[in-house]
Amino acid sequence: RNRAARLSRQPQQPARQPLRFESLPEYQRVEAQRKIGEVIGVANPFYRSHDQAAGATTVMGGKTFVNFASYDYLGTNTDPKVIEQAKAAIDRFGISASASRLVAGERPVHKALEGALADVYGVEAAVCFVSGYLTNLAAISSLVGPQDLVVHDEFIHNSALAGIKQSGATRRFFRHNDVENLDTVLRTLEGDFRRVLVIVEGVYSMDGDIADLPALLELRNRHGFWLMVDEAHSLGVLGATGRGSFEHFGIDPREVDIWMGTLSKTTSSCGGYIAGSQALADILKADAGGFVYSVGLAPVLAAAATTGLEILRSEPERTERLHRNGALFLECAKEAGLDTGLSLGFSVVPIIVGDSLRAVQLSNELLEEGVNALPIIHPAVPEGMARLRFFITCDHTEDQIRHAVDVTARRLRTLEERNFGLGALDL
Ligand code: PMP
Repeated sequence: RNRAARLSRQPQQPARQPLRFESLPEYQRVEAQRKIGEVIGVANPFYRSHDQAAGATTVMGGKTFVNFASYDYLGTNTDPKVIEQAKAAIDRFGISASASRLVAGERPVHKALEGALADVYGVEAAVCFVSGYLTNLAAISSLVGPQDLVVHDEFIHNSALAGIKQSGATRRFFRHNDVENLDTVLRTLEGDFRRVLVIVEGVYSMDGDIADLPALLELRNRHGFWLMVDEAHSLGVLGATGRGSFEHFGIDPREVDIWMGTLSKTTSSCGGYIAGSQALADILKADAGGFVYSVGLAPVLAAAATTGLEILRSEPERTERLHRNGALFLECAKEAGLDTGLSLGFSVVPIIVGDSLRAVQLSNELLEEGVNALPIIHPAVPEGMARLRFFITCDHTEDQIRHAVDVTARRLRTLEERNFGLGALDL
């Protein structure tokens, strides 16, 4: 209080109030969208609350829906083995790691998980972070800096973009999945960079297509860049036994410099990881701020993820079922005349509907048909490319898939016929 009194006696400058959050354009945009929704009677499709675990089906407000909005690709989230191991970890370790691993936060479950991840990839080591988002942010900004260059596919995830920005490296992008364009970008760049990093995704999260790893490796070996592959939507999904992009293409996983992934999808936990050489893991554990200065991954989450990886290894039929379901969804959608964009029908199938309002309306209408699928709208995708994104799991049944596609096609047709003329609204 004394300091406040002293400050108030300082020579007076004209008083300035802090900016009110309500005055920010960011807030006004949110408000405008809410009001438009109210006026035209379109409910907000986001933040729908689920009463319990959401897998191939979910319960909202006491009603059951077929669910295409959860990442639980292999149905491990409610698997009794995962629950049992998670409970055992809680009994032994409590909930939190209680400190950074560097100080008092290390638990045996961390080592077990990192060992299991390194095994999946057939590489020397892995290191875990408390979220997938943080993994990209912390790892990229630790490995490159202002003297370096990062070239990325134009569709990479926001978390990787955040990492590049944080790093201060020069950033360039190449056209989506266009390896020749990457070659051109690398050839035409001027400047003597200390390190060059190229970032792609295994399965692309908004489009469901996949990076051409063999072609990328060919370029890597010519240009000498580090190749980083985000396997968030590929682990458990690509390859005959779900080990990801390298298995799908039959390449040596040690050729990729940096494997990145998340624990929140196939392994139904929370957290992220980098896998690669021992030196890479050692650097990140010593240098990445998001590892050093953040709490260790909660032991319960590490135990759940490790059990998820065991299921991946011991029950490859889950990945087989996922492949069948993805292929069926894609085939039905194409037969129904729906625009599935670039999707190859693995874990992610978008149905592209055009403007954002239509995507929101369609998502809301599907609820009436017992189907939960969420819209992806501008700015997450370019305006005019709004879509419903369907996440496929191994537990969806053929009937559920056929029903979801049928009602999506029918409802979309009626929406297009009704044509509100509100297409330009940026909902
Ligand atoms: N990378 C990609 C490609 C993603 O799609 C996501 C999230 N969906 C992340 C990273 C971040 O992972 P997490 O949600 O586990 O933080």
